[in-house]
Amino acid sequence: MADVVLKDVRKSFGAVDVIKGVDLEAKHGEFVVFVGPSGCGKSTLLRMICGLEKITSGQLLIGDEDMSDVEASDRGTAMVFQSYALYPHMSVADNMSFGLRMAKTPQKVVESRVKKAAEILQITHLLDRKPKDMSGGQRQRVAIGRAIVREPKVFLFDEPLSNLDAELRVQMRVELSKLHNEIGATMIYVTHDQVEAMTMADKIVVLRDGRIEQIGSPLDLYMSPDNKFVAGFIGSPR
Ligand code: ADP
Ligand code: MG
Repeated sequence: MADVVLKDVRKSFGAVDVIKGVDLEAKHGEFVVFVGPSGCGKSTLLRMICGLEKITSGQLLIGDEDMSDVEASDRGTAMVFQSYALYPHMSVADNMSFGLRMAKTPQKVVESRVKKAAEILQITHLLDRKPKDMSGGQRQRVAIGRAIVREPKVFLFDEPLSNLDAELRVQMRVELSKLHNEIGATMIYVTHDQVEAMTMADKIVVLRDGRIEQIGSPLDLYMSPDNKFVAGFIGSPR
């Protein structure tokens, strides 16, 4: 079963067409990676999938539900941003539980989910700390923790590691793959980093100027890119 389906999805801002007809499926438990140059529409696609932005035309299904005409709503998706977007005055625990508390989740449930997510991300010892007293890598873990506690069907990551130094990026890449294996959720992941795409993806979606150039497994794209653009992005020899 597919958790996310896009059928001829388009998005315009005023007279500017940004997404020009995208057809795409993310199957349950699949790790899907979006790659493509800056400005090609990766973030816009994620924002439409999670409901921060409405699609202009086409069809968007999350699970069995048609979200084409629905704007912001709790649709079982959670987004992790590059900028972390943490509340500076709140502790790590409060940052992680904020969304759940707003949704009036019972305190006992909130506590147990925060505890479990903190263990997965190895930040239990940081729960009382404020974001400003933490490293970039630790902050990014908190941002991921904030998504995990919501137990979403679909995780959306918008270049989550691009603010981290190279060594930490490698470490977090491995941990995110582990996380994906552990919780088995569907993940859609945007990156600039070809190595991230090749090592993490079940399926890579190469985007260019609001359209899909090619979809395939890392091996497929590497071995048989449809054109020079895809080859260039994937780093294949052709
Ligand atoms: P990417 O994440 O691939 O770098 P984006 O999805 O952020 O690309 O942006 C795709 C295009 O849409 C860009 O040309 C950007 O300027 C434009 N765009 C994004 N959001 C808006 C908006 N709210 N209003 C107008 N144009 C936008
Ligand atoms: Mg972007």
